[in-house]
Formats: sequence, C-alpha cells, structure tokens
Amino acid sequence: MTDNDAMKSFYRQSKERGLKITPQRTAIYEELIKAKDHPTADVIYKRIVKKIPNISFDTVNRTLLTFAKIGITNVVEGYGQAKRYDPDMGIHHHFRCIQCGSIIDFHSKEYDNITVPEELNRQFTVISKKVVLEGLCSKCRRG
Ligand SMILES: [Zn+2]
Ligand SMILES: [Zn+2]
Repeated sequence: MTDNDAMKSFYRQSKERGLKITPQRTAIYEELIKAKDHPTADVIYKRIVKKIPNISFDTVNRTLLTFAKIGITNVVEGYGQAKRYDPDMGIHHHFRCIQCGSIIDFHSKEYDNITVPEELNRQFTVISKKVVLEGLCSKCRRG
C-alpha cells in the first residue's frame, strides 16, 4: 500500500467508524504511516510538533489510542515499555532488537500458517498469529 492509498483508507475508515477527521488527526496519521520504526506516542509527538507547534503530547497520545481502539492502527505487543504503534494492519511479523529496541517488519508465508498447539486451542480462541523474533539488529551486531 502506498502512503497515498493509506491516507485514502484512513479517511474511509474514520468515516465508517464515526471518527471526525481533523487536521491534527490527519497529521498524526500521516506521521504514523511515514514511520517504519513502530514509534511510541512520544516519538510521534516530537516529529509532529515541528510541523504543528501548538499540538500537545496529550492530543497525540489520545489520538493514537483512539486509532488503535477503532482498529486503524495496531499496538505492538508490549514489554512493559511505552506503547508502540504500527499502522501496517496486514499480516506480518516482527524482529525485535534486544539492544536498541528496534522493531523490524518481516513477512513469512510459513509463519502466517503456523499451527496453534492443541492445548492452546482447547483453552483459548486464537484470533491472530504474530511471530516475534528477538536478537541483535544489523547495527547492533556490528557495534
Ligand atoms: Zn539494535
Ligand atoms: Zn510491524
């Protein structure tokens, strides 16, 4: 999906879910889809305040939570740190660097079709399958 398509789908989905489109919300979503690094609200805020100096951290934070709630952005599985956002709603998996905390997207047909252990299926209803691999990113491996 190109960024342009992503914006179109943002307008459509906001409308469908009754979310009013404001210039601030549009700017926040634009910043989010530009970012490929699964940013926190704080990171998004720091980028956006350069363009909209009077925006508050609270607005950015609340808007991202709203995006997640209405299902137009994902929250990356947490590790007790600040929430990180992922605008890519398609099926994909994550590689997480344990040193610098980078989260890198990757695709794998094999992982998409992973089998849920019987025991889990008996106890729970699995609605999505996402594999997270951990290790050192290329930058940290060199360093
Ligand atoms: Zn790293
Ligand atoms: Zn991702």
